[in-house]
Amino acid sequence: MSREDTPPSGLDRPLRVAIIGAGMSGILTAIRLQQAGLDDFTIYEKAGRLGGTWRDNRYPGLSCDVPSHLYSYSFELNPEWSHWFSPGAEIQAYFEGVAKKYGVIPRIRFNAEVTAAAYVDGRWELEIGDGSRDTVDVVIAATGVLHHPVYPDIDGLDSFEGACFHTARWPDDLDLSGKRVGIVGTGSTAIQIVPAIVDQVAKVSLFQRTAQWILPLPNPAYGEQEKTAFRASPELMRSTYLHLAERFQNTFARAVVGDQEEMGKLEAACEANLRDNIADNELRARLTPDYKVACKRLIMSDAFYPAIQKGNAELVTAGIERVEPAGVRTGDGRLHELDVLVLATGFDGHAFMQPMQVTGRDGLTLAQAWADATEAYRSVALPGFPNFFMLVGPNSPIGNFSLIMISEMQLAYVMQLVDVLRRGEAREIAPTADATARFNAEIREAMKGTVWVTGCRSWYLDKNGNPAMWPWTFERFEAEMRKPDLEEFELVA
Ligand code: NAP
Repeated sequence: MSREDTPPSGLDRPLRVAIIGAGMSGILTAIRLQQAGLDDFTIYEKAGRLGGTWRDNRYPGLSCDVPSHLYSYSFELNPEWSHWFSPGAEIQAYFEGVAKKYGVIPRIRFNAEVTAAAYVDGRWELEIGDGSRDTVDVVIAATGVLHHPVYPDIDGLDSFEGACFHTARWPDDLDLSGKRVGIVGTGSTAIQIVPAIVDQVAKVSLFQRTAQWILPLPNPAYGEQEKTAFRASPELMRSTYLHLAERFQNTFARAVVGDQEEMGKLEAACEANLRDNIADNELRARLTPDYKVACKRLIMSDAFYPAIQKGNAELVTAGIERVEPAGVRTGDGRLHELDVLVLATGFDGHAFMQPMQVTGRDGLTLAQAWADATEAYRSVALPGFPNFFMLVGPNSPIGNFSLIMISEMQLAYVMQLVDVLRRGEAREIAPTADATARFNAEIREAMKGTVWVTGCRSWYLDKNGNPAMWPWTFERFEAEMRKPDLEEFELVA
């Protein structure tokens, strides 16, 4: 059944649903629930505004490195994107616009963090941070992946006298003009910030612990003529979306899970970028990684190498010894005097909806279930936690692909499970422990063929060294999400 269709009769059991999080996945879920005729739901949002990662991240240079015409809801393609990789504020405005258009905003309870969810007598009892409670039949955790900032454990960090903050907590009123700015980290975030601020600041010092491979993708703006063509032709937008999806599937998504030919192309492009665009041998040596291309999340930028070679930019590779009131002291004894210290030190990609306390059947807590490893059944459900579903959960295919498309596919799958409840075929549905164990054993085996385990440190890896990624092709993900195999679920009448 297409979600746009009127639900067929038989979906009679009324269900109350809680959506947790009003980011990309939460907005999507609200739209799909409404379209499916499931109107009794609330979105709980911990912040005062929707948008998730696009609300939290406001640093200079922020954009999405998935092409905008792909990083869009499939049912809300947007002719107005300004760039191939549009800026963060534009993406935030897109989500706000879609939420408004589909009447999602009045369904959101802002500043309402769900602190606990417990399965009691066949329903989920929720506790909200403001002291209120709700009882629902189904929980859909749309809580995102990269939203728990990681702060580095560096001696003296609190002693710094200037402004010091994580990139996801960028102060709105900060003027960097003429300032000496230090940035800790060289992930996608830092690499976007350096070119965006280098011409404005007195000096930017980039503290690199590990060099990064960088794929030189240009970011052209769309001209008025192209936008007019998109406006006039939904078919053109659709074919652009499908073309971009296919490009990613057939190149990058294959390379990271073992396609040597595609990996060879990526390697050649990254190596040539470094060779051709860094003039100084000594700087090039310091920017050359000692691990395989795409082992860490590959960075897309044609602006970073020009920026780091500017006269007022410095790549600092001596390790950080400590932070002092006046700046950063490196292992070679040098004090890098700074006015602003930016922590581009990434996120905990393994916490998911935690610290929310989730208690499933028979008192099983999520903390217990995930004590050894953060595992789920096909990323969307957990044994022992009936009628509780996740979007973009553990082992979703999150490496350089449109998370929106992934979330749409996962939700279409979850909606089929919800329909089992609506049809009254079961009051409880959860994957079996056996099916979940089989799935995760298969995942661990398949990980051995991926680039993520070839020897580098990255946020992909959990405490056991297992990547929180999807180790197969995108086509396999698409096929597995088409229809749940109810044999792998426990249905309780
Ligand atoms: P990240 O990739 O996890 O990078 C964190 C950086 O901080 C690394 O360079 C790390 O060094 C460094 N670091 C951490 N602790 C440190 C310490 N104590 N001392 C020195 N250096 C330290 O984080 P991110 O750049 O915020 O990116 C996270 C993810 O967000 C990306 O991988 C991507 O998935 C997503 N993102 C996407 C976009 C986009 O355009 N779509 C943009 C930004 C972010 P090591 O490498 O040595 O660990």
